[in-house]
Amino acid sequence: MTTLAAAMARLGTESAFEVLARAKALEDQGRDIINLGIGQPDSKTPDHIVEAAVKALRDGHHGYTSATGIVELRQAVAADIQLRRGVSIDPANVLIVPGGKVTMFFAMLMFGEAGAEIIYPNPGFPIYQSAIEFSGAKAVAMPLHEETGFSFNADEVLSLITPRTRLIILNSPANPTGGVTPRAEIERLVDGLQAHPNVTILSDEIYARMVYDGREHVSLMEFDSIRDRLILLDGWSKTYAMTGWRLGYGVWPKAHIDGATRLAINCHSCVAAATQFAGIAALEGPQDAADAMIANFDKRRGFIVDALNQIPGITCAGSSGAFYAFANITGTGIGSAALQDKLLNEAGVATLSGTSFGHMGEGFLRFSYANSTANIKIALERIRECL
Ligand code: PLP
Repeated sequence: MTTLAAAMARLGTESAFEVLARAKALEDQGRDIINLGIGQPDSKTPDHIVEAAVKALRDGHHGYTSATGIVELRQAVAADIQLRRGVSIDPANVLIVPGGKVTMFFAMLMFGEAGAEIIYPNPGFPIYQSAIEFSGAKAVAMPLHEETGFSFNADEVLSLITPRTRLIILNSPANPTGGVTPRAEIERLVDGLQAHPNVTILSDEIYARMVYDGREHVSLMEFDSIRDRLILLDGWSKTYAMTGWRLGYGVWPKAHIDGATRLAINCHSCVAAATQFAGIAALEGPQDAADAMIANFDKRRGFIVDALNQIPGITCAGSSGAFYAFANITGTGIGSAALQDKLLNEAGVATLSGTSFGHMGEGFLRFSYANSTANIKIALERIRECL
């Protein structure tokens, strides 16, 4: 019998990939499935970005790059942060990695171990809890409530901090809820964190460009008082429809960039060179395709929220960011996981059970509106009939 490390039993997963596989299997049997489950844009990467990668390959960029990422890309990230977040950072603190997830995983490896505690949003991106538990640390749930638009409550978060807390994970705009945390709540949290100087913050801002209804994205980067203990996670996957390219970045505090770079050298060496050139073109090139995609999400958002509210048993308070609507399904009398299965098998619509995002997700289903309005319309019609 082989013996595995105990940590393997603590590793969770991201159900979106399992549902995607089940939807694909049903499609292979000839079923027509509309996928509102997976969290990725339905558009292609803009042409000028693809061309930049093709050119890089033709120009012979086939070898390793620096583990931190090519200088021009790190500079482009710094310029983008200056432009969009109004904050000046040193490109030397940027670590280019293969996808947003990698910054997350490295943060958990750096801070997590038995005896440590890490606070994470629940419902939240499932890899937070999984990676925390894998590291050996205790995953402490920061509950997010429907009544407050799934924004965290600063006092509630601060009350979870103990002498063992090493890291707090924040995510706004949020997956799976579409919640956007208001400035006042973030300011109260930052103020409260002054009493906890040993706690590091990981701010996952991968949906930063996708905010609607006149809401603003408030970056944790704006707050000087925590800059020396803030890890910013962002990337290209969502904004530039580049999920399959595997490209993301972390901005690390000066004290930790060398540790994060060592993790990169041990893990993946560097991101594919051509992908990095594509990343420069994305940040420095025209933004019209990204802007149009986001404007489209906004339109579909209005449509899906209204349509969900017209289905008996389902209510959706709204979605202020990202491309997800997190609908309350308690009125159907069916549990979240059972309803996810029923809708996939009987209505041919893939959604994700709220419980895929933690125990606080019971009673909810996540609908991704990164799909055409026509498809969303048919999907919701099928759901209404099915129920
Ligand atoms: N963070 C959040 C909140 C996400 O929803 C996702 C992807 O769904 C990621 C990070 C990971 O992004 P990537 O595909 O770039 O690894």
